[in-house]
Amino acid sequence: MTNEPLTRDAWVEIDLDAIRHNMQVARRCVGDGPIICAVVKADGYGHGALRTARTAIEAGAGYLAVATVEEAVELRDGGVRIPILMLSEPPIRAIPTVLENNILPTVTTLDFALEYGKAAEAAGREAPYHLKLNTGMNRIGIHYTEAIEFLHAISVQERLRLKGVFTHFATADTNDDWEFRRQLQRFDEAVSAMRLAGIDPGIVHCANTATVIRYPRAAYDMVRFGIGLYGLHPSTVTYASADLRPAMSVIARVTHVKEPAVGEGVSYGLVYRSPGNVQIATIPIGYADGLRRSLSDKMNVIYKGHIVPQVGRICMDQCMFEVPMSSGLSLKHPIPPVQIGDEVVIVGERDGSKITLDMLASKLGTINYELACGFGMRLPRVYL
Ligand SMILES: *Cc1c(COP(=O)(O)O)cnc(C)c1O
Repeated sequence: MTNEPLTRDAWVEIDLDAIRHNMQVARRCVGDGPIICAVVKADGYGHGALRTARTAIEAGAGYLAVATVEEAVELRDGGVRIPILMLSEPPIRAIPTVLENNILPTVTTLDFALEYGKAAEAAGREAPYHLKLNTGMNRIGIHYTEAIEFLHAISVQERLRLKGVFTHFATADTNDDWEFRRQLQRFDEAVSAMRLAGIDPGIVHCANTATVIRYPRAAYDMVRFGIGLYGLHPSTVTYASADLRPAMSVIARVTHVKEPAVGEGVSYGLVYRSPGNVQIATIPIGYADGLRRSLSDKMNVIYKGHIVPQVGRICMDQCMFEVPMSSGLSLKHPIPPVQIGDEVVIVGERDGSKITLDMLASKLGTINYELACGFGMRLPRVYL
């Protein structure tokens, strides 16, 4: 392989064709009307924000969403020209950076809105923003019954421009239809009240990935497509309803091989002991790369198409796996002996075997989102 990283034998592979495919999946769900906003916060859920954003834009994304000012600035510095929505309100001290980089902030407090409007006026600019409504998630947002009152209160700042109104669902990825519908109804009520009061709400949006798949009628003017862009499901509830293709694989090359005697321990604490007649191979990936330590002795890797167990404690930068040595006829499909430089798949599909982020997440009691972000922290990325 020519494009693997020069200086490390562990890396993340990102299949940009999968990202393109997943954009089409979203487009098929919601139809031609709504804008697709590609959510690329947390460095594109670990996939690399800039490359993901560029690919999503080529595939039809009309908007991007991030979590922090820094993430938005990175995209602007990378040459991204389309609107970038920051999904929460920036600190007041970040307002100059927000204006300078043409970032669309979310507004959820009076103080920020007034300072933002004032700064825009001083700079001779407009202050475009989206208003976030709290319809039941109770994280951030103006209470849905107080939207109009809030807009009146900030209207003293004439540079403020309402470009969009949105809310976020707490239960779109669960089977609890009732709470979802209640939030949607509250959102609809607030938007109707704004229109009745003569206020143009701009781009109306509420759908995350789970909503795109399960309630495409709630796509409205724009959908915020996050986890699905990366080919991952928001939960098991959507498995059957969307043909998403995972973009991320995690790969390493063997750096060391040995055949410890029976009873010899492996890794910190020596909690694993060799049963004998096994090879122990080392790969240079550990918990600082997102391979969570609590997976120790609970996960597998793919070696030459065979699922083999990871053994011993996962270290910060390395871990070990076990390969049985083929003793004559005992194995139906003998596993070839491991050699330094052999490729091992930690997440992905190879030779008919597959390990998914969902499989690791369920062992950990977490979600694929968290693991994808984790693998994005230190591992170099290779784009296919
Ligand atoms: C992260 C986020 C999204 C994307 O959610 P997915 O489940 O990844 O599609 C959408 N909206 C808001 C407000 C978010 O914070």
